[in-house]
Amino acid sequence: MSSTKYTIVVSGTLSERFVSALTGVSAQPGDGTTRLDTEPLDQSQLHGLLERLRNLAIELVSVQESSSPSPVSGPKVLVVGAGIGGLATAVALRRRGIDAVVLEQAPELREVGAGISLWPNAILTLRRLGIDEVERSGAVVSGGDIRDWRGRLVHRSSTDQLEARFGAPLMMIERGVLHNALRDALGDVVVRVGTRCEALEQDSTGVRVTLAGGAAERFDAVIGADGLHSVVRHATVADGPPKRSGVRAWRSVVALDPRLAEHLPVGESWGKGALFGVQSLPGNKAYWYAATMADRTDSAARTSDRSDLLRLFGSWHAPIPELINATEEGALLTNDLFDRPVPTALAFGRVALVGDAAHPMLPSLGQGACQAIEDGEAVADALAESADPALGLLLYNERRLSAATAAVTQSSRMSRVSHLRNPVVVALRNAVLRRTPAETSLTRLGPIIGGRPEATEPTRSRS
Ligand SMILES: Cc1cc2nc3c(=O)[nH]c(=O)nc-3n(C[C@H](O)[C@H](O)[C@H](O)COP(=O)(O)OP(=O)(O)OC[C@H]3O[C@@H](n4cnc5c(N)ncnc54)[C@H](O)[C@@H]3O)c2cc1C
Repeated sequence: MSSTKYTIVVSGTLSERFVSALTGVSAQPGDGTTRLDTEPLDQSQLHGLLERLRNLAIELVSVQESSSPSPVSGPKVLVVGAGIGGLATAVALRRRGIDAVVLEQAPELREVGAGISLWPNAILTLRRLGIDEVERSGAVVSGGDIRDWRGRLVHRSSTDQLEARFGAPLMMIERGVLHNALRDALGDVVVRVGTRCEALEQDSTGVRVTLAGGAAERFDAVIGADGLHSVVRHATVADGPPKRSGVRAWRSVVALDPRLAEHLPVGESWGKGALFGVQSLPGNKAYWYAATMADRTDSAARTSDRSDLLRLFGSWHAPIPELINATEEGALLTNDLFDRPVPTALAFGRVALVGDAAHPMLPSLGQGACQAIEDGEAVADALAESADPALGLLLYNERRLSAATAAVTQSSRMSRVSHLRNPVVVALRNAVLRRTPAETSLTRLGPIIGGRPEATEPTRSRS
């Protein structure tokens, strides 16, 4: 295995003796950063050193082969998948001046789904990517109280404090609007629809990608943004298919009577093993979603109609039955939700994973797409900072792995709490939630939903 000397820059002016004693690498403190010059290391030694730095809570700024010159022209990068994660990645790559091509297996570019919540971490990232359409066309979430199924308050929300605390609000938007905003920001990036990636293989100089039909192409790096059943994940992590979580979800967008729209009780209502959430959308519309524990042995999401939902939620507090009745059958979306552990790495040489391909999560926090958007920016930044795509992707992994893992863990915890079924445990949970101050929940979730507020300017903008 070949060994290479690396120059690693970490955040903070650290004592030379402290760093050398803990990592065995010579260090040169600078102005706000410290430079570490390694002896020749192979890839696993480099991984070990980066992990030691992470365990010491030392933040990585860049990693580069010591002899490599600054990048002159960027790599040619393939993004597999044009969902929210893939489009955000392609927009960010373009803003960093990196050549990107996007493959999408579907015959046309569109997002299926109802509404979506975007927390400050996503809004701040979209701002840095120059996308302000979401803030123009979405609705600021002004409340998110938790009630019981009869409508009695269980936990007061603190969404009104988000802007002051993190610099951006929580927003609700129709998925199609978000998708169009990302698509419009693609500029000259080529999206090849109706083109499926079937397999990939990498060597030390690039990645060979095989398309459906048998044609093959080479790229300097590949970003797998191909969702839950990712081919790119299969080619790298190879951890089999995702597992059913046991949760079934329904969602839709409905038009409301203006009087109801004005007084819509937004937030979530939790019953035994079931929840129903409602949020306002602009134009007298509401986004509602519901979830219950489903039979894990079910082989597929059933076609589900309003009568199923009325059987489950028909006796819940107003306006829940009214919202279900106002939903058109064709506008009702049903999914069985899947889950899988986060892999131990998000980058594998010249290939990396973003969004649901990397870390699908239960939607209890509304963070899946938010994390995918953050991934997209981070992977583009990291590729722009390193002459060697494999090192850039390693940097991406260092910056995003623990944040995404925290979002997955917290989403799964929240899902368990909101789907409790035992009446005694439900009563106990509600009693604890009644006594929990709103600020406590915000502080606990801050590292996930707050994102990184500092603005980063694109290094080589083409816009
Ligand atoms: C009920 C529900 C509610 C949710 N609510 C929220 C919310 O409020 N807020 C939030 O942030 N998140 C939410 N999420 C999560 C969010 O929807 C996902 O995390 C996000 O859409 C993932 O985007 P993605 O681009 O990674 O993957 P996907 O959206 O799955 O996109 C993958 C794309 O890749 C394409 N593709 C797949 N394989 C290939 C291939 N081999 N070759 C070429 N193309 C391929 C697919 O056609 C698709 O277009 C929710 C999820 C669910 C199920």
